[in-house]
Amino acid sequence: MTTTNLDKNKSIDIDFNALAVTGVQGLQPYVPGKPIEELERELGVSNILKLASNENPLGASSHALRALLQDPLQGLALYPDGNGFLLKQRLVNVLGVAIKQITLGNGSNDVLDLIARSFLTTGRNAVFSEHAFAVYPIVTQAVGAEAKIALANSVDHAMPYGHDLEAMLALIDAQTQVVFIANPNNPTGTWLTSDELERFMERVPKKVIVVVDEAYFEYVDEAEYPNTMEWVEHYPNLIVTRTFSKIYGLAALRVGYAISSPEIASLLNRVRQPFNVNSVALAAASAALEDEEQVLISAQINRDGLQQWMRACEKYHWSYIPSVGNFICVDMGRNALPVYEGLLQEAIIVRPVANYKLPSHLRITIGTQEQNTRCIDALKKVLK
Ligand SMILES: *Cc1c(COP(=O)(O)O)cnc(C)c1O
Repeated sequence: MTTTNLDKNKSIDIDFNALAVTGVQGLQPYVPGKPIEELERELGVSNILKLASNENPLGASSHALRALLQDPLQGLALYPDGNGFLLKQRLVNVLGVAIKQITLGNGSNDVLDLIARSFLTTGRNAVFSEHAFAVYPIVTQAVGAEAKIALANSVDHAMPYGHDLEAMLALIDAQTQVVFIANPNNPTGTWLTSDELERFMERVPKKVIVVVDEAYFEYVDEAEYPNTMEWVEHYPNLIVTRTFSKIYGLAALRVGYAISSPEIASLLNRVRQPFNVNSVALAAASAALEDEEQVLISAQINRDGLQQWMRACEKYHWSYIPSVGNFICVDMGRNALPVYEGLLQEAIIVRPVANYKLPSHLRITIGTQEQNTRCIDALKKVLK
């Protein structure tokens, strides 16, 4: 092509936004936590504490790290096992599900996207709660479906800001195809009991897919918290999703999965990219799954950390949303953005949640005792 042709093409103004499919035109991209390297560049300091993305402060499972030093690096030139057989086999052993019930994802976000692409489109809708995980509106809108958002529990409810299942049921209509439920929910940390969820499953129309997102399952220690995976046999419209990003400390590798009826799994696997989970991630996740110590110790440190945060909140009269996740939403009692920026100056990254309709809260990941102390002290200073 000559220079004149290049110039001519440049002058043709095409509105590509108008050409994008309707859902994508107005889509707001997911906003991740600020990366450590970015703040390092901005502040020129190196002792940065990131409590912004619910990552495991203990790091990756040691079993996973050991596995990474062995086989997978030998096979980088080869495509991974597109079926993820070894990981699926381990999931079968650990979870007691059948191999046909498993769908592997590039993170559980990938699985949420597969669900949307399999079941949602223009003219259909998905129901979820106010303050629910940000990926639900994104995957819903991207495929042109409507998001029907139920009001959350009121502030004076026993589970403030939590999912109101009655309100969600009331929104379900003939066009509803998917309901997204996060248990516990991110960013609120609120959760649903076995009784509440079971009553919901009994009343939801059988043709509506109910997704129970259990990204923080392994952290929860409440007697009434359900193991919904055991329900999949009884409810063929139920999909349970979990991840290796949180308690197993493998967020960088991107592995998650769904457990569902074989019929639904077969649909999800049709739209799945053939090699959506890479070989390094498969090897690490397979090894991590047998790391019971990682789960026990991480959950214990998290429980201690939650207690430490709640004691601090009570001591300094900070209001907070009671959480069973590895994070806590603390109410700054004012626009939280300047507080977030004040914490950045203290080299601490937390997460503003105004995009979740919580403009006065900051979501803070539970760290080690030492990290929590540093963050609490910094917050005290910034709020003064
Ligand atoms: C972190 C998180 C996920 C998991 O994301 P991955 O893609 O597996 O890293 C899913 N759901 C919720 C509610 C989360 O907070």
